Parts: sequence; structure tokens; C-alpha cells
Amino acid sequence: MIKISTFNEALSRNEVQFLDKKSYAGHEEILFCNDPKTKLKAIIAVHNTKLGPGLGGCRMWNYKNQNEAIIDVLRLSRGMTYKAAITGLDLGGGKAVIIGDSKTEKTAEMMESFGEFVESLAGKYITAEDVGMSPNDMEIISRKTKHVVGRPKEMGGSGDPSIVTAYGVYMGIKGAAKFRWGKDQLENKKIFVQGVGKVGGYLIEYLKKEGCEIIINDIDDEKMMNAVKKYGVKIISSDQMFNQNIDIYAPCALGATLNDANIEKLNCEIIAGAANNQLAKEGVHDITLKKKGILYAPDFLINAGGLINVYSELKNWNQEKTLKKTENIYDTTISILSRSNAEDISTHKAALSIAKERLIN
Ligand code: NAD
Repeated sequence: MIKISTFNEALSRNEVQFLDKKSYAGHEEILFCNDPKTKLKAIIAVHNTKLGPGLGGCRMWNYKNQNEAIIDVLRLSRGMTYKAAITGLDLGGGKAVIIGDSKTEKTAEMMESFGEFVESLAGKYITAEDVGMSPNDMEIISRKTKHVVGRPKEMGGSGDPSIVTAYGVYMGIKGAAKFRWGKDQLENKKIFVQGVGKVGGYLIEYLKKEGCEIIINDIDDEKMMNAVKKYGVKIISSDQMFNQNIDIYAPCALGATLNDANIEKLNCEIIAGAANNQLAKEGVHDITLKKKGILYAPDFLINAGGLINVYSELKNWNQEKTLKKTENIYDTTISILSRSNAEDISTHKAALSIAKERLIN
């Protein structure tokens, strides 16, 4: 039997520390699961279900401690609410994290145990794939709950969402390029793709076809070497990024890469990538970017392709309809950037305002 605790129970046991009240106050549900038998340690956060059930991937990551995992899941679930709202989907925001190394600690029993945890929310939260999880894991989870999307295509699911996420990011990059340079062709543009995992890899394929000069970095040497072999891209260290004239920086690793340590050193014209929660401090770093004249395409808008893909599974959309919906990211990016200019607010704030308008109405 899995053991589930509420947020207040975790607080009373001092398991939650140093947490700013603002980070969790708006959430509808935050649950902790501990299953000593399968070694599952997981958290599900449901931020807002006004537009529909909270749908968001499950991330398995080797967090340093539980507090780091809580902070991540709260930021991610909140982002999902705004992502669904701005994309026009009838979904709420939710997210899950599993604490552990997905390469060495994941087992089928652990996935089944996580399925029971998802089932305990009776559909208020629907899970899917995120970093460290795969369509096959979704298949195992589905043995215990029907509230899961993103199973392999051959098993009736919508498959790996990363392909569609990358397509949406590519649309967002083109929209930002059109706004910045008056044309959306990317030929000869120098683009830094940070993180060459699933989305980063597919994104490189789109960018290569446009004739971009692509430079990359990843903490996984094997993935970097594979990308060099497959796409002929060049490797740089993360620090070298500051010494180059980059046209577009595409963060496709984890979040908070726009932070106090690097924001002043950034040297690029556009930031547009897949990673969730790129701004370490919302309301601070987005404003710094605006002051520096760097055009930031809000992450929760341009990485919505994956969400659209799993939504298509719930709605029985075919691939054509899914890609068409994803292409809207191009126009929405341009409207957000225009609104940011017209109202003299950061692009992040402009995107949030549009999402919140849908949540209020
Ligand atoms: P992934 O695990 O396949 O790839 C992430 C890559 O980033 C890995 O290769 C990892 O080694 C690398 N990485 C981690 N930390 C790094 C660092 N500090 N510097 C450089 N590289 C680093 O994950 P993914 O599915 O490609 O997702 C990438 C990002 O996009 C994540 O933030 C994810 O939340 C977000 N996202 C993914 C999807 C999707 O459909 N997969 C949808 C929306 C958002």
C-alpha cells in the first residue's frame, strides 16, 4: 500500500522547509507519496483546475533533497496552468516529480506504484512524460490508472510528445525572428541549443534544414558526441556562450538558466527554447532581459507542443490537426511580443496577462 500525505502533514513533520508561502499558496492540491517497498518518493502538485483536469508530465530527477523537488514541482505545475490557458486548451495545471536517478533507480514496480498515486486523485491530475520518463513508463503506469497519456503509439497512445514540442519551439523561434528581424527565415543564424536531449535533438533537425549555424552544450558527453556525429554541430562550453555573438539562445535543458549569475553576461538577440521555467525569478529576470534588449519568447507558450500532443490523445485528434494547432504558436508569439512592446511590459508578463484573462473569464 502506498502512503500518501497532504502538504499540511508534510509541513507538520518539518519535511517542507524554507518555502516561500507565495510558491504554494495558489495550489489546489499538493500530495506526497512514499512507498518503501518500491522506493517511490514522489510529489504531485495540482495548481488550478478551472479549465479542466490538471495535466502535466512526471519528471524523474536526482534532486539533492525533497525541498528542491517541491520547489520544482510547484513551479512546473503553475506553469502548466498558464501553458494550457494561453494555448486555448481545456486543461488545468498539474505536475509530478519522482525523486531519484531515472537511469539507475527506476523499476517497473516503482512505475506501478506511481500509477496508484495518480489514481488516488481520481482524474484531477493526468500524468504524462517529462524529463527522465518515457512512453514505455506511461504504459506501465497505465496498469494502475487510466489517468495517463503519452503511451507508445503502437499501444494506442500519442507517443513521445517531444517531436511536437520541438515543432512548437521551432514555430516560436520563427515567430520571434519575424518580430525581431522582419523575416522568419533562419538561414545563417547562429543558434545555441543548450541540452541535446529529446526536444533539443528534434529542434536541431528543424534548424539544420533552415541552414542555421548550430552550437550545442550538454552535461552528457555521449549525447553531445551523438549530436556532433548526427548533425555536424559544434560543441561549446556553457561559459563560452558569453563570448560569442549568438543570434538565438535556445535553452532545452532544465529550468532557471536565466539567473543572477549569467543574465548580465548574456550576448544574444533572442531567447527561445523548450525548457520549462527558464526565468529563475519571474518579474525580475524578464525585466532585465527587456532592459538589455533581448527578446524573450515565453517558455510556457512556445513549449506547449507536447501538451497539445497529449491533449490530442484525449480529444482523438489526428496528427494533421495536432500540428495545425501547434503552428498557432507562431502567431501567438508575435501577438505577445507586440503586446509587450505596446504596453511596455516584459514579454513574460504579456504572456501571463493573456493566460490569466482566459482563467478569469
Ligand atoms: P531530456 O532529458 O531528453 O533532455 C534534457 C537534456 O538536457 C539532457 O540531455 C541533459 O543531459 C541536458 N542537461 C541537463 N542539465 C544540463 C545543463 N546544466 N547544461 C546542459 N545540458 C543539460 O528532456 P527533454 O524531454 O528534451 O526536455 C527538455 C526540456 O524541455 C525540459 O526542461 C522539459 O521540462 C522541457 N519540455 C519538454 C517537453 C517534452 O515534450 N519532452 C515538453 C515541454 C517542455
